[in-house]
Amino acid sequence: MARRSERVVVIGAGIAGLAAADMLVRAGFQVTVLEARDRIGGRIHTSLAWPDLPMDLGASWIHGLEGNPATALARDAGASWVTSSYGSARLTIAPELAALGARDAGAGGAERLFEQALERARELEGDISVQAALDAVAPPGSLDPVRQAQFDHYVNGTYEQEYAGSASALSAWHLDDGAAFGGEDGFFPQGYGQLTAHLARGLDVRLGQVVRAVRWRRSTVRVELADGAVVEAEHVVVTVPLGVLKAGAIAFDPPLPAARQQAISRLGMGLLNKLCLRFDRVLWPADADWHEHLTATKGDWSQWFSLGKVDATPVLVAFTAADHAETVERMDDAAIVAAAMARAREMWGAGVPDPLAWQITRWRSDPFARGSYSFHAVGSSPADRRALGTPVDGRLFFAGEATSADYYATVHGALISGRRAAAQIMSI
Ligand SMILES: Cc1cc2nc3c(=O)[nH]c(=O)nc-3n(C[C@H](O)[C@H](O)[C@H](O)COP(=O)(O)OP(=O)(O)OC[C@H]3O[C@@H](n4cnc5c(N)ncnc54)[C@H](O)[C@@H]3O)c2cc1C
Repeated sequence: MARRSERVVVIGAGIAGLAAADMLVRAGFQVTVLEARDRIGGRIHTSLAWPDLPMDLGASWIHGLEGNPATALARDAGASWVTSSYGSARLTIAPELAALGARDAGAGGAERLFEQALERARELEGDISVQAALDAVAPPGSLDPVRQAQFDHYVNGTYEQEYAGSASALSAWHLDDGAAFGGEDGFFPQGYGQLTAHLARGLDVRLGQVVRAVRWRRSTVRVELADGAVVEAEHVVVTVPLGVLKAGAIAFDPPLPAARQQAISRLGMGLLNKLCLRFDRVLWPADADWHEHLTATKGDWSQWFSLGKVDATPVLVAFTAADHAETVERMDDAAIVAAAMARAREMWGAGVPDPLAWQITRWRSDPFARGSYSFHAVGSSPADRRALGTPVDGRLFFAGEATSADYYATVHGALISGRRAAAQIMSI
């Protein structure tokens, strides 16, 4: 039985780490949270670069407000939200496709083709990528340009943007495995960071502490920091993102069990980036939250969220995921803004002025994230997530979105996993 006086080190002050620490402190443990960055929140990051307009550069929504522990946390934090609906997205069509006669997104046909591809893939003896499954039903060059663009738009908008993985990397077998809460999506005009700030109240969180090694022995664990300092504890909760584990940025001594290492290498770490554009007034249709642009180049600034419906806030957030995002991340800011603005003017006319200011994320190059969130890559499955979340020798505990078999890639998945790790320590 873990004694309440025992020391616990939590690595990472994202929502998983903060949730674990909060629960353990309430149970009487001595908890220290070591965070590499100079801020808490991890992939929840409410930027205050525009002091009058908090911008979420990581997570924005509670996906499915009903019965969701993130909703309960938001209530406890006194954070108010507004709802938004992807289902009511407005579609515009790029001129090159309109000239070819494209009139809609062709979603029904694209969905049927997609389902047919996945059904066939499920009959195979081994997992294949979504792209390979699609190529089997619609070989490259077999669809006319409009149908191809509609198909790409469906795949990108429905799966690549959701899971942040490229169709050529996503598993056809386990693409959609997982669960979801019901109800609408909630968005925080004052920022998601209100939830992490609430959880962190009263916790011993030490910022700027980059963990380099975790040496676990029979009765204690030594956590070594980049500056040479050492922190010892009876238990350690590791909540760093999958991308950080993949990069081997933290050495484990002895090495982690084989199943854990395989899970780390098999699961994919995806990329979703945001471009926030600020204008002096709303110069696009303000009656829809979501705007989609059907383009001939897959995922080329085709998903936009407008804050125009929320208090007429003159901000657009453009999303890019998977292959397009990997390319964009390497471009400089001016080139990114110019490319996105060209699309914005196709959508809403040449009268849309240049933005007054912008904020751009580069989650792949972020050394403490190394990507946006995890996905099921070809050959991986929910069993890998369970392996990743299994404690080692009653000393090492793992949490974070990638360890959630049901709710990976979400805030609530990370939150639940942090509480799970705390409960595991409390029950040994
Ligand atoms: C662009 C984007 C949009 C998203 N949108 C949504 C959304 O709308 N809704 C939703 O539910 N989810 C969304 N997500 C996913 C969600 O943000 C994550 O699933 C969740 O925040 C992960 O929390 P975590 O605690 O597992 O990891 P993190 O928040 O990444 O926390 C891990 C912490 O470990 C720290 N760390 C890393 N390396 C070290 C080290 N060596 N030493 C010490 N500390 C270290 C990191 O700095 C970080 O603070 C989005 C993510 C991104 C990137």
